[in-house]
This record gives sequence, structure tokens and C-alpha cells, in this order.
Amino acid sequence: MSTKRMLLIIALIGLIAAYFGLNLGRFLSLDYFKSQQEAIESWRAARPVAAALLYFVAYVAVTGLSLPGAAVMTLVGGAVFGLLWGLLLVSFASSVGATLAFLASRFLLRDWVQQHFGDRLRAINEGVAKEGGFYLFTLRLVPAFPFFVINLLMGLTPMKTRTFYWVSQLGMLAGTLVYVNAGTQLAKIESLSGILSPGLLGSFVLLGIFPLIAKKIVEAVAAKKVYAGWQKPAHFDRNLLVIGGGSAGLVTAYIAAAVKAKVTLVEKHKLGGDCLNTGCVPSKALIRSAKLLSHIRRAPEFGIRDAKADFDFAEVMQRVQRIIQTVEPHDSAERYTSLGVEVIEGTAKMVSPWEVDIVRNDGRNERLSARSIVIAAGARPFVPPIPGIEEVGYLTSDTVWELRQLPARLVVLGGGPIGSELTQAFARLGAKVTQVEMAPRLLMREDPEVSELVAARFRAEGIDVLLNHKAKQFTIEGGEKILIAEHEGQDVRIPFDAVLVAVGRVANLKGYGLEELRITANRTVETNEFLQTRYPNIYAAGDVAGPYQFTHTAAHQAWYAAVNALFDPFKKFRADYSVIPWATFIEPEVARVGLNELEAKERNIPCEVTHYGIDDLDRAIADSEAHGFVKVLTAPGKDRILGVTIVGEHAGDLIAEYVLAMRHGIGLNKILGTIHIYPTLAEANKYVAGNWKKAHAPVKLLEWVGRFHRWRL
Ligand SMILES: Cc1cc2nc3c(=O)[nH]c(=O)nc-3n(C[C@H](O)[C@H](O)[C@H](O)COP(=O)(O)OP(=O)(O)OC[C@H]3O[C@@H](n4cnc5c(N)ncnc54)[C@H](O)[C@@H]3O)c2cc1C
Repeated sequence: MSTKRMLLIIALIGLIAAYFGLNLGRFLSLDYFKSQQEAIESWRAARPVAAALLYFVAYVAVTGLSLPGAAVMTLVGGAVFGLLWGLLLVSFASSVGATLAFLASRFLLRDWVQQHFGDRLRAINEGVAKEGGFYLFTLRLVPAFPFFVINLLMGLTPMKTRTFYWVSQLGMLAGTLVYVNAGTQLAKIESLSGILSPGLLGSFVLLGIFPLIAKKIVEAVAAKKVYAGWQKPAHFDRNLLVIGGGSAGLVTAYIAAAVKAKVTLVEKHKLGGDCLNTGCVPSKALIRSAKLLSHIRRAPEFGIRDAKADFDFAEVMQRVQRIIQTVEPHDSAERYTSLGVEVIEGTAKMVSPWEVDIVRNDGRNERLSARSIVIAAGARPFVPPIPGIEEVGYLTSDTVWELRQLPARLVVLGGGPIGSELTQAFARLGAKVTQVEMAPRLLMREDPEVSELVAARFRAEGIDVLLNHKAKQFTIEGGEKILIAEHEGQDVRIPFDAVLVAVGRVANLKGYGLEELRITANRTVETNEFLQTRYPNIYAAGDVAGPYQFTHTAAHQAWYAAVNALFDPFKKFRADYSVIPWATFIEPEVARVGLNELEAKERNIPCEVTHYGIDDLDRAIADSEAHGFVKVLTAPGKDRILGVTIVGEHAGDLIAEYVLAMRHGIGLNKILGTIHIYPTLAEANKYVAGNWKKAHAPVKLLEWVGRFHRWRL
């Protein structure tokens, strides 16, 4: 602890001890004041300025030190200085005192509180940063909440001192007025409890609730304002209309139908969207074939002297299409129609906040009105404007599935999850792959040790991983395609046959009425925490809304979008992103939930890190997959899980235990106390919990237990 802090603590303790030790509280009682009232008033009449100053300083001291007696002092203020001067003095003294208490609490405790509970307080911090002044005002209006508690608690939040001061002064004014006014009639007051009659207290409570009601009214008026100029239909054709039939749109429509709403889903291309047709499903199908080839190549590791694969790339790609066709019925128009969703194949465009024009794929047009609309229009691959890119031609995750001939030399631009998955798959299928990434490592969101393991494995499999390489230009020289990349100020030439661009995905923001309705979009459609756009009846979910770009997060948001769209204003829910897992399906597989070390450092969240090396796990050894690790971040000294990274076989499945644990507040002790089947990879989860336990063993107690055992020998 710093010397300044120590001195302040000593000073505060000293002052508070003096107050109680010298029984100074006796001067702050009604009876004492009444007995001295005449003398005090005559002194004030003789020296009005000195009296006002002394009173002001004493008031600031009492409130600043959070001592009992502020209520009596306020009454005294009214009695001695009258309504106007009393009000003025008390109003400023109480605000200054409250601010001093607020600052003391901040100086002494805030860092500690935020360090230890910062991750849990995040929502509160964000709320205070956004609407803290408003809530403080509400609390100040109701004198039933002890003011000194408010001062101390607010000091622990990120509220600005200036905001605290003026909101406090304004908020306390009504209560101060009542007390100062009561003070002017002090002779008639017998006890403090009499001042706030149940009726008066009720009025204050009403006054306190008033800002909340006012806020709701302001929100309603603001919401009404955005609709100005639009003609709202008298009746609606549908309860809900969903634009886009990918993961987000399908789940939204499904939920709406499940709660018996009249819902229409419009999809312009293929139901199932990106995930089924060009994303998760084909990529995982391709990865499976590639993995088989990698196992065949590794045959000697499994005691098989020689194994060969005779395959045709085109057949592998046809299998990918067969897998899509097998999954397709899950997302088909027939299935959704049978569930109660009206599915329209066509392009939707919003023409008003409640109306959508639909151009059906068969050429028919129609206009449908809906009480609510959910935008689930997805995203598409981002293609950077690198000179020459159009001339050489490129593949993206949208088009790569049409390939039937394996490119001999493939350049993959991008070291993120999609780029890495496709890099490894194509390399295993026999392409000579060069992966070009301008960042210093692959999978930048993960911890550096993860990136290192992945890059090492990629290189061991013959992939040329080029980090810190920025694609600058594409050219064709003598019929050969060449990528020129910049690396440490030098040009590096990379000849290739095909290039796959996987540098990120951008939300689809054009062509369906966002601009016409002036719905704000900045990379993604802007929404509030309820997933509402600037029109409260128009929602967005999935890749088009962000911030995550996963099928499971699209489905997660879809629940909120559907429920909020159908039940607002009666009930709506804030989208909860507290526990979001994801995986990258490469070898070694990488899975994560919650914080990693990198983020914990960036966000200044203290944590302990526990490691377990999967190379030590029986099942992983038996499977010849003894590599990778489980890394768990916990709150210091506690078994509460803040985040987990798993690298290794089936990491994406293993992480599920931690997702459940984090979602439901289960700590490492409970995971350790749970039976895990032997021999499974899941045992790694228990062993890492065991490592945590060992690190927190009660050393002293164990010494005594050792003595006990020696004594029993
Ligand atoms: C190669 C690759 C691998 C991936 N792997 C995984 C993975 O393993 N796990 C994972 O969780 N995620 C993965 N993803 C991401 C995942 O596919 C997306 O996050 C998910 O599909 C997003 O769903 P969505 O509904 O938001 O958008 P989309 O699936 O893109 O759906 C949007 C739909 O809206 C339609 N549409 C757009 N405008 C209109 C309009 N005006 N009228 C009618 N219809 C319209 C589009 O045609 C599209 O079908 C992967 C993505 C790629 C590219």
C-alpha cells in the first residue's frame, strides 16, 4: 500500500476514533441543540459569517467522514440560518462532504475492488459509465437510502467526480429543503422520525420512481420520433418477418413458429445460408477427408508399416456436396413449413419500418407488413483491393467448393480460423500451400503459445507459413501468377496456381433497405443490447449484427431477437454474451471460452493460470495424439473459472465441460470432484483441476497432518 493511502487511512481512523472517543456525537443530538439554541442563535447574530463558515466546515466534516448526525445538522441549519441560507449552506456542504467521502472511498478501495471483482463488476461498470448519473439521481431523490452508503459505493465505480457532485447536489435538493424547512420549526420537532411521515416518505419514493417513469416516457417519445414520417399500417399481415434464412434467420423463424406467431422467412439464395452451404458444413467435411489422409500418412506411428491412399480430389469435393445434401433437410423449406413457418424463396427489401417488398425467385412480387422484422442477412468474404487481384482471379470461402481440380500451388491469404482450416485441409490433400499472414502470428485472438504450436504443426506438415508478410500486389509474369508480399521492407515473390482469400468477413449491408430507412451500420448493423436497431421493431441477429461470427452465436442471438421482437413492450431480454465458446478445427484443434491470458492482461484482470499438458494423458498417448494442453484462468485464490483454452485432439468437444461450468458458476473443485471416464481425453479437464488444487494445497495444515501420521506410526 502506498504511503499516501496509509496516511489517509490513519487520518480517517484518527478522526473517526476522536469523534466516538470524545463522544462528539452528543453535540449532534436534537436535545443538545434545543438546550443550546438560544446561545447559538445569539452568537450567530453577533458573528454571522464566522457562524456560517463554522457550520459549513462542520457539516462537510460530518458527511465527509460518513459520521451519523447529518440529519440533525440539516435541521439545525434551518433553525439557525433560516430557510434560504440554511438550504444554501446545507446543499453545498452536503454535496462537498459527499464528494469527499466518494473520493476517499475511490482512493482507498476502488483499485482493490476493481482488481478483485472487476470481471464481475463489468456490467455494473458499463451501466454506471452509461447511465450512472441517472441512477444516482434516483437514489438521491429518495432519502430512505442512506446517503453515506451511496457516497461510498459510488466511489468504487468509474463514475466521474464532476457527475457525482452535480447529480448529488441536484438530487438531494428536495430532501434538503424538507429537512431545512422542518428545522425552521425546530421547537415543534420531538424526534427525527417525525419529520418523514409515511406520507412524505411515500412522496419521496414516488419522486424517486419518477425519473424511471420519465426515462421510459423519453424512450417511448424517442422511439416514436424515429417513426415520424412513416405511415404505420392499421393491421399487420405477420407478427414477424425474417430477412435471410441462414443460422440466425432459421432459428428466429423456428422460435416464432414455436410460440405460435405468424412468421414469414425470406431467403434469396439457399436456406441454411453460409454455414450449411459454404461454411461450417463443407469445411468440416473437407477437413474430415484431409484428416484421414493425414492419418494414412502417419500410419507407421500406429504400427502400420505402410498405407497408401488412392484418391481423386474431385471425388473428395463431391463427398463434401453429398454431406451438404445430407444435412440440407434439417434446414429445408419443407421442414420449416411443417413447423409453421411460411418460407418464401425471394429477395426481401424493407420499404418502411413495417413493410417489406419481396421479389420471389419465380418473378412474382408482393408486399408484406409485419409488426416486427428481424434482419439476418449474414456476411460475405472480404476481398481486399490488392492491385492485380481481379486479373489473377481468386477463390473465397464462397467459391472454393466449386473446385474439382486440386491447385498444385495454393496461396492462402489470412491466418485466422477460416484461412488456417482451409490451409491445412488443402495441404493434406496434396497442394503445396503457402499461408500468408501480415500479423506476426497465426490465430491472433489466441495466446501466443497457441499460435506457436499451430505454426509448428503446419510447418511440420510441409506448409510454408509466412508471418509478417503483407500481400502487396498480384502479377502474371510469363503466364505464371505471382504474389508480391512485403516482409521487413523487402519484396518476397510467391508464385502460385490459385489464391484463396480468407482475410475476414464483412456484413451484408446493401440492397435490403438499410440506407433508405437510415438504419445505422458501421461494419455491422448497429443494435442495442436488445438487438434492436434505431427502429425498436426492427432487430438484427447473426453475422450481420456481430460482434461474433459463429453459427452458435447467430442462433443464440436469434433467440433474443425472436423473443424480443414478439413480446416487446411486455418483456424483453438483453443479449447475454458472458460465456461464448468457439473452436478452430485444425490439428491441433484449438478451443476457447472466456478470457485467455492475452485478454486478461489487456483488460487488467488479475488471474491465476493453471496448465495441464495433454502429452501426459493416457488416452492421448494411446491414440498417438499426445500433444497440446488445457489452460485454465481462475480468479486469484478462488476456483472460479474466468476462461479456458484447450489445444489438442477434440478440444472443441472437451471445452463443453467448461462452458457449462462457467455458465452455471461451477468451479474447479466441483470439476475435480466429478468422475470422468478412464481413459478419455475428457480426463484432461479433471487433471487440470487437480493441478489447480495442488497449487492451492494448505501447506501448513498438511505439515500438521504429516506430524499426525508420524505420531501414529
Ligand atoms: C469456411 C467457413 C467455415 C466456418 N466454420 C464455422 C464453424 O465451424 N463454426 C461456426 O460456428 N461458424 C463457422 N463459420 C461461420 C458461420 O458460417 C456463420 O457465422 C453463420 O453462418 C452466420 O449465420 P447468419 O444467419 O448470420 O448468416 P448467413 O448464414 O450468411 O445467412 C444469411 C442469409 O441471408 C440471405 N439474405 C441476405 N440478404 C437477403 C435479402 N435481402 N433477402 C433474402 N435473403 C437474404 C443470404 O442469402 C443468406 O442465406 C464458418 C464460416 C465459413 C465461411
